Amino acid sequence: MTRVFSGIKPTGHLTLGNYLGAMRRWAAVDQHRADALFCIVDLHALTVDHDPARVRRLSRQAATLLLASGLDPELCTVFVQSHVDEHTRLSYVLECVATDGEMRRMIQYKEKAARERERGGSVRLSLLTYPVLMAADILAYGTDEVPVGDDQTQHVELTRDLAVRFNQRYGHTFVVPRATRPQVAARVMNLQEPTSKMGKSDDAGPGIVYLLDEPDVVRKKIMRAVTDSGRDVVYDPEARPGLANLLEILAACTGGNPSGLSGVYESYGALKRDTAEAVVEVLRPVQERHRELCADPGYVEGVLRDGAERARALARPTVDAAYRAIGLLPAV
Ligand code: ATP
Ligand code: MG
Repeated sequence: MTRVFSGIKPTGHLTLGNYLGAMRRWAAVDQHRADALFCIVDLHALTVDHDPARVRRLSRQAATLLLASGLDPELCTVFVQSHVDEHTRLSYVLECVATDGEMRRMIQYKEKAARERERGGSVRLSLLTYPVLMAADILAYGTDEVPVGDDQTQHVELTRDLAVRFNQRYGHTFVVPRATRPQVAARVMNLQEPTSKMGKSDDAGPGIVYLLDEPDVVRKKIMRAVTDSGRDVVYDPEARPGLANLLEILAACTGGNPSGLSGVYESYGALKRDTAEAVVEVLRPVQERHRELCADPGYVEGVLRDGAERARALARPTVDAAYRAIGLLPAV
């Protein structure tokens, strides 16, 4: 059976980008057709300036929202990265096949390091090595497919390179995974800055729709989205990024396609109104289920406990094999 692995970082409140780019497919498709693991990758949240209590709170919230979005623990495994030691064990070994040049070339490293410096902070070493830990997350499970948004493509490519390199040097150990992306909304853009990705760790603002935003807040944010001075509704991501973003969001929420939908609208106002309502409707059941799950924290904890146990059992043999292959003496 196909093995699927993907993760989400507790670096901020989850956004519409996380939902349309990743989470929604996990629940609607991946958990039904594959042996799928979904991970709250909390160690990755420590790569930038963080508040310990907030990371803990956001980890719990992310787990609750994953279940609220439809992940069913009877069908898939939901767990927290730091509960399974195999990730960091494997990460070290992969650091021994990765190069510092490879790490410095990662676009996300460059962007996030620049942002940390702008905020007057220093850049944590873990931000540089983060893609290796992500490779370990994926490779530990013999993953075939990694369903992610567009922004993670480069990291999955690196993961493939490391797997191939390790296998060539030390003998076949890892499955070489591939990224899968959604057909629409693979990169939801910030509503106020449609040339930048909507990211949960960006400074909060009217350009980001959070999964737990009240319907009226969602409507306001979408009605105020930056478009451009044109009048006609056309789908042209290069020249009209704000408009294209709204069409992508609407298409993702209603099942249409962005250029087809562009022909339906004669004004920006009508497009925004329909997009706002479509997003509100998509978020409604997730928010309802989230409220129910918040009333039952014991259930979420139980899911995470069982998930970690299953994940550990799956990862251990692969990580042990990697240790042996690279030359470490097995513990007796
Ligand atoms: P951060 O700002 O901390 O990097 P993020 O919003 O980018 O947070 P991640 O935890 O890095 O979220 O990514 C979780 C998943 O959501 C990944 O599969 C990623 O590709 C996807 N994703 C994140 N942002 C978007 C977006 N704007 N559009 C589509 N998919 C996205
Ligand atoms: Mg990200």
